[in-house]
Amino acid sequence: MEQGRVVMKCKVKKKAEKKFRQGYPLILAEDLEQVPTTQDWVTFLDSRGQYLATGYLSPQNKGAGWLLDFSQRELDEAFFVEKMTLAKEKRQPYYLDEGTSAFRLFNGEGDGVGGLTIELYQDFAVFSWYNETLYHKRQLLVNAFQQVFPEVVGAYEKIRFKHADLPESQHLYGADAPEPLLVQENFVNYAVYLNEELMTGIFLDQKEVRGRLAEGLASGLRVLNMFSYTGAFSVASAMGGAVATTSVDLAKRSLEKTREQFRINGIDPLTQKIHVMDVFSYFAYARKKDLTFDLIVLDPPSFARNKKQVFTVQKNYGELVADSLSILADQGLLIASTNAANLSVAKFKKSVEEQFQLAQVRYRLLEEQRLPGDFTVNPAFTEGNYLKVFIYEIKK
Ligand code: SAH
Repeated sequence: MEQGRVVMKCKVKKKAEKKFRQGYPLILAEDLEQVPTTQDWVTFLDSRGQYLATGYLSPQNKGAGWLLDFSQRELDEAFFVEKMTLAKEKRQPYYLDEGTSAFRLFNGEGDGVGGLTIELYQDFAVFSWYNETLYHKRQLLVNAFQQVFPEVVGAYEKIRFKHADLPESQHLYGADAPEPLLVQENFVNYAVYLNEELMTGIFLDQKEVRGRLAEGLASGLRVLNMFSYTGAFSVASAMGGAVATTSVDLAKRSLEKTREQFRINGIDPLTQKIHVMDVFSYFAYARKKDLTFDLIVLDPPSFARNKKQVFTVQKNYGELVADSLSILADQGLLIASTNAANLSVAKFKKSVEEQFQLAQVRYRLLEEQRLPGDFTVNPAFTEGNYLKVFIYEIKK
């Protein structure tokens, strides 16, 4: 079957036409007269039966599909080669950055194809497929990728949609990556594992925050990294001159992974504190021991369940801030971060600052960070700009 061929036609409801004409790429089930089940490309028609856009249907979170083109082009290999060529051009600053060898090459709808992201780790790529229809078209997309990125020697793929017969992670093509593979970001080393479950060991969307820590924000400070995962913020801080780091994460594997991150940067992990612990238990422990910190990083998952409770950023972020204030030095820094897409910048900021007011501390917003440049945002789809990071100076 010719994968570029458009077969199905599908009518859009009148009330949804306007947003699509303005380039909004995400289709909801309620935007369509009917939602056919098809893994082919779909031509979307307006309520008068005229061409509106081309795309595909597949459930993904709250969405029902993505629009990829508004100009009646065929969605063939040449189409995807063009998208990927443009994406590569946009990443030139990262290619030119000597101290950075890992970044996002293709950011879904931000680069014109909702449902697929591709990251570069040194000479290897990691594809993440977010829905089944695009996965069905993967050969077309992988062919296009290999044309535009011939220097990538091997690739892995992550299956981020429910499927009974597919693993979460598998080799896709080319050479096998070493385990761990060492990459660099702002001249700091990070160990990544490209074929372990869905995550690689580093969240590339935080590169600018790690960059700020590595270039001096944490210099001379005692840093507490909550929800530390593989300790990336701790390592960036230590490399940037932090006098001490403490990493706290519930997951057992975080201990060895964090040690490894220090080791590959020439830091003896025994000189750093790493706790496999619930963050709320750690706050209680630190208070009991009268421990204080000069810089606290709060970067929780948007949703987490442990034995005792369910954590959501919407409901529980305030508690994290209040607890942090109780162990922050009289003058300190707080990095409040969330990747919760369903929480607005204003609401998140309010939930943090409310706690400052309740605790009656003085605060000043030093910096706000959103997604870095390699996480391209589609201007017509600003909810794709999910990352929110605020760096505050606090005085008690
Ligand atoms: N801040 C990290 C990424 C965090 S990922 C970074 O930038 O690299 C989320 C992490 O939170 C996971 O490693 C998970 O194990 C941890 N986690 C979830 N709930 C937790 C809890 N209650 N206490 C401690 N860690 C928790």
